[in-house]
Formats: sequence, structure tokens, C-alpha cells
Amino acid sequence: MQTLSRRSALSMFGLAAAATALPAGRHAALANGPASNPEPKQGAGFYKFKIGSGASAVECYSIGDAQARIPSYPLWGENASEAEVGSLLDSYYIPKPPEPIHVHFNVLVFKVGSEVWLVDTGNGPRTPDAGGDGMLLGTLASMGISPEDVGGIIITHMHGDHIDGLLTREGAIAFPKAKFFLNKTERDFWKDNPDLSKTTLDAGWKQGMITNAQKVLGLLEKTNRLEIVGDTDEITTGVRVRKTGGHTKGHQTVEIERAGRKFVMLADAVHHYVMSFRKPEWHVKFDYDAEEGAKTRRRVLEQIASERTLVMCYHTPWPGVGQVRARDGAFDWLPVTWEW
Ligand SMILES: [Zn+2]
Repeated sequence: MQTLSRRSALSMFGLAAAATALPAGRHAALANGPASNPEPKQGAGFYKFKIGSGASAVECYSIGDAQARIPSYPLWGENASEAEVGSLLDSYYIPKPPEPIHVHFNVLVFKVGSEVWLVDTGNGPRTPDAGGDGMLLGTLASMGISPEDVGGIIITHMHGDHIDGLLTREGAIAFPKAKFFLNKTERDFWKDNPDLSKTTLDAGWKQGMITNAQKVLGLLEKTNRLEIVGDTDEITTGVRVRKTGGHTKGHQTVEIERAGRKFVMLADAVHHYVMSFRKPEWHVKFDYDAEEGAKTRRRVLEQIASERTLVMCYHTPWPGVGQVRARDGAFDWLPVTWEW
């Protein structure tokens, strides 16, 4: 069985120079989880849903950019114990540490009229496994969308698994006409000697994450298409960003509202479909500030659970669309059922 090393796993979250995410369809040798499906890519590779109805509805798509198996403890639950992490995972039929867990990378695409928008861009050319690219561009092509067609890209935060797809294999910006929307706090954080002292990642990983973020930021600035946004700015009609912080200092979620219906792309406010929801207080090493990350997770989950909002998460099992309910002082992830 092929698994990812801890270092490789971290790299997918933008924490080292070489990433080793597994594009969907290349995990045939990795069948291990209770519901894992050893077959290669199936279907069209995107899941379509709508916010609102009629002519003003926003068409949304979740594209699975990649999948990977990564270690659980102590990336999650360092402030608990390996036994507690194992016990929770086992109760959901998920392998206990040191066995890896399954993580997805879900990119949101939405259309406002004829405008095509992305929220984040996946792992791009740094989705390795036999040198493979992430699946975003190929799936967009199958939908009839080329990089030139993308008018706007909202960047939730500057971790590699969200921004490396902005680049081509040659290191140029892959979207020649898009405007890029980044929170001001996030831009300032990475630009100016970022403080990662509140996560226990080792120094090498932190430096890899900083180097990558600064490189991509520099390239974005050179395009003159980078728009720095405030904490609750409306980006286009009915589409609003909201800074949450927690995961990174200027991490932002994206809200789409149409005809009284609200949808939120939570990005990395949560990560794993069991641990983030049942134990939001568990530290996550990917959070730049473990305590702030935990508090933010609970605050965001309380809000969406109380409103029964439809949400999408970047790292829960594809398509990553669902709702959240409160239960016993914590939460449950309720994935959508497919409708057609
Ligand atoms: Zn991420």
C-alpha cells in the first residue's frame, strides 16, 4: 500500500516545496478506508448545484482537484492524545493513527451570468504522483471552460493547496484575464515576516510555506490584477467575502446569496469531516494559531448550524457540499444527497 509520508502530507497544505497529493483516479492502490472506492475517476469530475432559482440563480460546481491520504495524529488533536484521536476515528470506521486518513481538495466554481469565478485553484502542477497535475484545469476543459474564460478568482488564503493551481508548470500565472481577490490582512501577513510561532510545525515546513506564499504573491502583484479586499466586501452582486482568521490570519470564506438562499464556501475554517466537527477544539497544525483556529472553528460552525446554511468545505469528501447540525456540544457534518 502506498501512503504519503508526514512531510509529503504537509506539503500539500503548502508547507514544503514538493507536494505529493494524489490526483483523483490515481489512488487505486490505496484502498483502505471503509468507504474507499478503488476505481479510477468516475463520471464527469464535477458536481453541479444551484443557489436560488430562475434566471438569477447562481450555478455552482464542486470540482475534485485531488485526493490524498495523510497522517491524522498529531496533525490533528495534538492537545488531546493519540488514543483519543484513534478512538473517535475508529467510531466512524476510519483507520486509527498511524494509519493515514483520506483528505480531498474541492474547488468551487460558480457562474454569475456569463462570468466564470473560482474560489481557490487547487494544487496545480505541484500535485505530484507521477508528475501529474491537479484535476482542476482538465475538468474545467470538460465543462467547456478554458483558463482565459475565468474572470475572477477569490483566494481564501495563501496555502499551497489553494494557490499553487494559480501557476502553470513553467511558473507563470495560469489565468491570463482573471482578477484575483485576497484579504488585506492575509496579504500583509505573508508579505511582512509572518509570525508562525503559534503552530508547532517545524521550522523547515514553516519556511517552505512562507517562501511559496511570497513567491505566488509576488507573481500576482506583477499582473496588476490583484485586488486587495476588506473583511466583509461584496465582490460581485450577491457574493461577499468574510474574514474568519483562525486558519491563517486573513483566511476568508465566501458567501453567495440569491433569492433569500445563502450558501457559504467555508474553505479551511474546517478540515476533516469527523475531527473538525466532533472535536472543533482539537488543535490543527495547519492553523497558523492553534488556539485561534479552534475558537474560529466553533464560532463558524455554531453560526451555520443555527441557520442550517448550505456550505462547502475544501477538504471534506468530495463534493464537500452539505449542512452542519449541533449535537452534544459539538457538530455533525451532513453531506448532500445527490439529486437529479
Ligand atoms: Zn487547505
